Amino acid sequence: MAKEYDVIIVGGGIIGSALLYTISTYTDLKSILLIEKYGDLSQLNSNSTSNSQTLHWGDVETNYSIDKAKKTKEASERVLRFTSKLPAAERKADIRECQKMVLGVGDNEVDIIESIFSPKFRELFPGAKKIGSGEIAKIEPNVVKGRNPKDKLMAILSDAGYMVNFNALAHSLVTKALNKKGAKVDVLFDTEVDRIDERESDNSVFAKGVEYKAKFVDVAAGTYSLYFAKTMGYASNLSSFSVGGNFYYSHKVLNGKVYRVQIGGIPFAAVHGDPDITNPNITRFGPTVSLAMRLERYEPGTRMDYFKTVEFDTATMSSIRKIFLGDKDVRRILKNNMLYMLPGVGKKLFLKKEVQTIVPSLKDRDLHFAKGIGGIRPQIIDEKKKALVLGESKIPGKHNLIFNITPSPGATSCLSIALEDAMHIADVLDLKFDREAYEKALGPVHK
Ligand SMILES: Cc1cc2nc3c(=O)[nH]c(=O)nc-3n(C[C@H](O)[C@H](O)[C@H](O)COP(=O)(O)OP(=O)(O)OC[C@H]3O[C@@H](n4cnc5c(N)ncnc54)[C@H](O)[C@@H]3O)c2cc1C
Repeated sequence: MAKEYDVIIVGGGIIGSALLYTISTYTDLKSILLIEKYGDLSQLNSNSTSNSQTLHWGDVETNYSIDKAKKTKEASERVLRFTSKLPAAERKADIRECQKMVLGVGDNEVDIIESIFSPKFRELFPGAKKIGSGEIAKIEPNVVKGRNPKDKLMAILSDAGYMVNFNALAHSLVTKALNKKGAKVDVLFDTEVDRIDERESDNSVFAKGVEYKAKFVDVAAGTYSLYFAKTMGYASNLSSFSVGGNFYYSHKVLNGKVYRVQIGGIPFAAVHGDPDITNPNITRFGPTVSLAMRLERYEPGTRMDYFKTVEFDTATMSSIRKIFLGDKDVRRILKNNMLYMLPGVGKKLFLKKEVQTIVPSLKDRDLHFAKGIGGIRPQIIDEKKKALVLGESKIPGKHNLIFNITPSPGATSCLSIALEDAMHIADVLDLKFDREAYEKALGPVHK
């Protein structure tokens, strides 16, 4: 006998957890099941060791449009509202305020900072301040110490810097969902979903030889979401490249987050320096960009599934040619990052080109490769348009099914992504969505 639920969520990363919380708390559904492959929530990309732990606010991401910045800020505000209601110790484990700036070095980057700091930007971020080297030296002395005095410096200092342990946040979200009265909320760990069958009236999810039926299935399986979509005949025009990111650690040399100017249209964050919410004594530098030919960074057994997801063919090859070889900035980033992977010399190059642009006085002996740290950003490519798909992707199924793919800043957007899905599911299943309660707790709903 199949076990039956209103909704099944596949994947217990930050997206699946936010979804479980949102649907169970703000709709009147009767039963929901989250199925997670590993023994705990957020063991992959949402783990604090896998990402940069930034609550993106839109004010230091120089490649965002004003629209994207606005959406990002709203998504972050939801996370802030959610965590503000948690007991102090839990809140501290999930999220902490920290200083944050985006640094421009040299004439070109300083010009970019000047142009970003427009009246529209200031209207959206009234607390952000443009600061020069004198002020930078006061708040981040190591950014200025030992620097060539000819280097022109300018930064935008954010008034909304936060670091987040998205793994801890996932636990807070799921704990709240499990406390929901009047609905059956189940979470299954150590259970890998093998197959999803889609039907008009309901869908079946198969895991460990058991069939689970649901009126709606939401696949929030990170890099595996596109894999499931493809094995079910969807998204034949999309490919996904697993973009790995490595980090290097030093002793604490920064007081907060120091982002760098990013070149427009490139989804890869330029290397930045960050504190670590789990270790106050270090500064992390990264992430680098590497192509990981697998769906899970540290699991070679996921290589075959990666190739099934990419489906290399002539369309893929011509997209790669256009995107990766046709754009000089992408070419430069890829070339530099390939050099960073070279044994011995790679670290020296990373130090010179990236780290010392942020902290000029840092030495080779101060920096070490953070083994086993850094996850995967699934970078979607639209093979019809031969273009990178920037940001999150949502692939709808034919019958009550959604696949979510969430590269950065996916973790920041978790509650916004969850809201969109929860409202859609409520619509489809004819559930009541308690908009008033939601808006009171987590902010405006636009639909
Ligand atoms: C280097 C790096 C830096 C980043 N920095 C930031 C940042 O600073 N801020 C930010 O907002 N975002 C950042 N991101 C992006 C962020 O980490 C992701 O957007 C987010 O973690 C994605 O969450 P998810 O739940 O979709 O995926 P995941 O965290 O990967 O979770 C997917 C879950 O699905 C489960 N699963 C997969 N297949 C199955 C199956 N068959 N059956 C059952 N379960 C399954 C997995 O075990 C996993 O738990 C960064 C990412 C990287 C790699």
